[in-house]
This record gives sequence, C-alpha cells and structure tokens, in this order.
Amino acid sequence: MKDLAVALARQHARHLYRSRQILEGPQGTEIEVGGREYLSFCSNDYLGLANHPAVVAALQEGAARYGVGSGASHLITGHSRAHHQLEETLAEFTGRPRTLLFSTGYMANLAALSTLAGRHDTVYADRLNHASLVDGIRLAGARLRRYRHSDTTHLASLLADKSRDEPSLIVSDGVFSMDGDCAPVAELAGLARDHGARLMIDDAHGLGVTGKGGGGTLAQLALTVEDVPLLVGTLGKAFGTFGAFIAGGEELIETMIQRARPYIYTTALPPAIAHATITAVSLARREEWRREKLRALGRYLVQGARRIGIDLPDTVPIVPLVIGDASRAIKLSDGLRARGILISAIRPPTVPASTARLRITLSATHSETDIDGLLSALSEVM
Ligand code: PMP
Repeated sequence: MKDLAVALARQHARHLYRSRQILEGPQGTEIEVGGREYLSFCSNDYLGLANHPAVVAALQEGAARYGVGSGASHLITGHSRAHHQLEETLAEFTGRPRTLLFSTGYMANLAALSTLAGRHDTVYADRLNHASLVDGIRLAGARLRRYRHSDTTHLASLLADKSRDEPSLIVSDGVFSMDGDCAPVAELAGLARDHGARLMIDDAHGLGVTGKGGGGTLAQLALTVEDVPLLVGTLGKAFGTFGAFIAGGEELIETMIQRARPYIYTTALPPAIAHATITAVSLARREEWRREKLRALGRYLVQGARRIGIDLPDTVPIVPLVIGDASRAIKLSDGLRARGILISAIRPPTVPASTARLRITLSATHSETDIDGLLSALSEVM
C-alpha cells in the first residue's frame, strides 16, 4: 500500500485532495456540519424539496405500505406498484411514451451508452459532459470523438467525416453540471437528423428547473421524442429524492429492460423512495413560484456581484465563479467557511485544468438576505 500513500501525498501537494464533511441533519440552505451551522450554496436541491414536509410524509407512507428494501432486482420481484406508477408519472411529465427507473443517474448513463453504442459505433460527445457520460462511453467500448464545448460547427465538421449509415450517437448534458449553461439542443437535434445519428440528452440539471412546469431543456425548446429519442433525468437534484430515469419510445425502453446490464443486475431502488418521488414531481410541476424565485435570486446575485466587481454568468441555479488555480479556489472556499458560508471548490479532474471554481448553487428556499450574506463574505475574501 506504500504506492497508494505516495499517490495520496502527491494529490495533497497539488491541492487536489478531497475529503467529506458530515451533515448532522437534513439537506437545506442552512446545514449543520461539525457542530456549526452554515449557510449552504452547494447542494443540488434546487427547488428545496429534499426536506419538504409533504415529500417526507409520502416517504413515511411509502415505507408503511412497502417496507424499506425492494428485496430484488426489477426483473425478479423488485418492481413494485410505486415504481410502475412513478414511471408512468415521469412519462406523462416528459411527454415521452415510456420511462425506466434506475437507482442513480450514473447507472442510467452507463446503461444507455453501453446498450446503445458498441465497439463499431462512434459517440460524439461535448468536451464538458458529465463524468458518467464519459464512463458510459468507455464501458460501451465505442469510438469517442469529442467536440469543443457547445460548438456545433466543430461537431458538424466531425460528422462530415462519417457516412450516413455508420452507427453513431451524439451525447450532451442538457444543462452543464459545472458551468450551468445550456447545450444547443435544437441544433444538436438538427445535426443528428441530417447525419443519421441518434441523440441522447442528460438533463439532470434542467428537469424541474427550466421550462414551463419544470419540463426541462427539451420542454423549453419544444423538442419531441423524434428530435431527442433518448432523455436521461435524475431524481436526486431538483426533485429532492433519489434515483434516475431514461425516457423515450417503446422500443428503446424494452431494449433497456432486455439488455442493459446496469438495469438487470442490480436491486431496485426502495419503493418508498419511488412513492415519495411521485409527490415531489407533482409539487415541482405545480409550484411555478419555486422556478420564478430561483430566477429572481439569480438576477439578484449577478447584479449584487457586479457591484463588488465580480462578474458572474446569469446561469440559474448553477452559477460558477471560475478562479483558475486550485489552491486559490480552496483558500477562498476556506475563507467563506470561516464566515459561515459553504461553497465547495471544484477542482480538476471534475473541471478542466486551470479552471478550478467555486460552484455556487441556488435553491428556491434561499432568500435575498442569504444572497446579501454571501456577497458580503465574497467581497471580504476576494
Ligand atoms: N448526469 C449529470 C449531468 C450529473 O450532474 C450527475 C450528478 N452530479 C449525474 C448524471 C449522476 O446522477 P446521480 O447523482 O443520480 O448518479
């Protein structure tokens, strides 16, 4: 194990060492860590549903009805009425014929890519795609061609090399997890159509947050299942619970059920979670004020930051403050922590080299006073 110790020490020296912090209570804008209360800007609980009383009550009701563990994989006896109802709810919500539940978004992406792309396929991927998409392509063993971030001209030039019937897939985050910007999905759909490629969008950070009723990036652009045959969504972010799903047509979902190893060979997520998620999705769709509040808080943050000389993009709810150097990003994050504010420093390899950043995330349960607190702490530490 000496080699591991050397590698760990090197990681420390490069300011890339990661460690966990222990939360003593629920996720929220105010969290308790190590016996101290912090104002947090680093969860993905964008709508503030992770500790919503109705969602907690639904989880308790689900546990009373279904117990705790699902006890088996979906294809044995793990697929409960709650799972099935959630799949139907999500199909209706996304306007897709069917959906299929997964325990995590990471697994949904591994499943989609390893099932739909093989050794003879080419996958065209945005350079800033989430790690789970990168790993899915690796698992598929497909040929990878990366295009510059959101650069459809570059993608078109790569696609121009391929013949129309060569099997290929274009894959992108809908809203990029570390930058908060939206992919040019309508253009990607056009290129996929023109070049006979499939299109897969992982809208983990768009669903629940953008579009009317929280329908996400595709709803906002009115893109149908023909435009984007494969949509991935997660349930542990805006919906505040846990799990993920793939949405698409009948044949896609049946193919996943028959062939996707990360679907077949794993225990179904707890049915009570699925039961609670039905309530969470309903709240997310109904309560438009949560999305309006997020947008208003975003504007308030960007304007306030400009007044203290900090330029932030108007990407809500993920607002990156790019610092560059990893050690400086950590120093700033530590300085904020000393002032009672939590914002994690995101460093390579999660983000490209020299783009370490403070990833500020907003939640509908933040207030303008919270943002004032953040701005005053930022002006001190910067
Ligand atoms: N896709 C994207 C774009 C993500 O940001 C994440 C999680 N950070 C995932 C997939 C993985 O989802 P999960 O956390 O449910 O595994």
